[in-house]
Amino acid sequence: MSKSTRVPGYMQSKGARNRGPLGDREIRYKCSMQNTILDVLRARPGWQEVSGPNPPQQQQLQQQQQQEKKGSGEKSATQNKDKSGVGNAAGTGSGSVATGKSSSQNSAPSNQLPTTTSSRSSVGKTGGLMPPFLPPTRNVEGDWDFHWCDREWLHANYDTMFLQEHQKILHFRNHYELTRKNLMVKNLKRLRKQTEREMGKKEAESFDFYPTTYELPSEYHIFVEEFKKNQGIIWIMKPAAKSQGRGIFLFRKLKDITDWKKGEYQPLTDPNREVPETYVVQRYIEDPYLIGGRKFDIRVYVLVVSYNPLKVWLYRSGFARFSNSRFSLDSIEDAYVHLTNVAVQKTAPDYDPDKGCKWATQQLRSYLTAKHGSDAARRVFQGIDNIIIKSLQSVQKIIINDKHCFEMYGYDVLLDDKLKPWLIEINASPSLTASGKDDYDLKHGVLNDVLNVLDLENRLTGKEKRVGGFDLIWDDGAVTTDDGAMECSVNSVSTTSNSFLGCHCDRKKHLREIYTAAQALKKSTPS
Ligand code: ADP
Repeated sequence: MSKSTRVPGYMQSKGARNRGPLGDREIRYKCSMQNTILDVLRARPGWQEVSGPNPPQQQQLQQQQQQEKKGSGEKSATQNKDKSGVGNAAGTGSGSVATGKSSSQNSAPSNQLPTTTSSRSSVGKTGGLMPPFLPPTRNVEGDWDFHWCDREWLHANYDTMFLQEHQKILHFRNHYELTRKNLMVKNLKRLRKQTEREMGKKEAESFDFYPTTYELPSEYHIFVEEFKKNQGIIWIMKPAAKSQGRGIFLFRKLKDITDWKKGEYQPLTDPNREVPETYVVQRYIEDPYLIGGRKFDIRVYVLVVSYNPLKVWLYRSGFARFSNSRFSLDSIEDAYVHLTNVAVQKTAPDYDPDKGCKWATQQLRSYLTAKHGSDAARRVFQGIDNIIIKSLQSVQKIIINDKHCFEMYGYDVLLDDKLKPWLIEINASPSLTASGKDDYDLKHGVLNDVLNVLDLENRLTGKEKRVGGFDLIWDDGAVTTDDGAMECSVNSVSTTSNSFLGCHCDRKKHLREIYTAAQALKKSTPS
């Protein structure tokens, strides 16, 4: 299909025409990434890239403001707060203001731009030098419909953005509540305690999917107590906010970390020394499930389109990432044995890029089914569903819910030799760089289906429980399949939950069917 070709049902119904700012026009997107997502956006029919960080009108205004500032010797608040300077003075249509409150709280009148303390003082300082129609610290995000931004961009801009009704942006404001290793565990521990208080011990056991974890330095003393109770076990130390295996090491003895601790946590006598980095120390899973003698973890893609009500889509495909070397506890300092990150494994001297180190989740599910039976395999994947839902619920009340925001998480799950799934971590920016053709096809499919679920083209009815490779598993409650006897064709297991991780994923065929059905329904529904 050529880029200019209309997609089936695209903007053709009356509903679509009435949809306000998108109307019968192309969808304008911005993208901070240079990887698969950009390919997906560029290839999407009816979508048009908005190039450059600043719309010309805003750039001109900023230059003008800066010249005026230079003249008055003042530092511009816009320079401080808005590094990208995205905005459009004309974009003051109806919408909500992202001020760190939920969107329902953000019901500013459509053409009224709220002032912040900084904007007020800035206006005061400049003595009215700013053009009266453009408050200096408030971006009016008006020239795009969809923004796949990076987290840094969001942090720098979210609090000063004015988003219009139809705009969609990647990431919730405080996504780190789930994606920082220390905060994820803190939130899980809190919900576990609350569950135990309100529903009893048995129910709270359903939270036993994260290894015992402490934050350092703040919980060092509790950790030492726990360490002494379990002499001889292996612990893993991880920087709370780093990724790709950076800064991680394993240890068995307290003295193994003494030198490291001295270096990191000496009292801050030197005022120029940085505050020590936060780490988590976690019980190491010493008995991972091995295939061919190798350890692996499973990457699972989860799309959250709303936290209130919680609405969660689970992608059928993903992959298992294997370590390159056979697993052994003899060499706990060997990252190639113990860390399954591709970023680590691809630096191994004997790494073969053609062979790679990945299996599709379908292949893993088939393997487990063949080896342990369909019930055991089903329990593994149900356990992963439980991890996803409980972890999201643990931050449901904390995440700033904004109808403009969505998140595509990459969950990392490890199986132990009893086939119990353990949550290792959750990424808000899972790698979208492909390591080979299959990986590229997978990521291309996931990202296209994220856009298909978000449905800016308004091609769906909004009632779908499956869109391409994504299945709706939670919609303010567990979602069941329409057909209770529906089968996962990989392992022929019937299930009533609408979750099909590792099951057959004929996404293109399915998309054709739902678009045709939705179009027919829209045509037949009297307007
Ligand atoms: P990063 O964000 O740096 O990737 P992770 O927490 O994902 O950090 O850990 C990196 C890798 O280390 C994981 O993919 C997994 O292979 C291994 N790992 C991490 N925590 C544990 C653990 N508690 N037990 C066993 N292996 C672990």
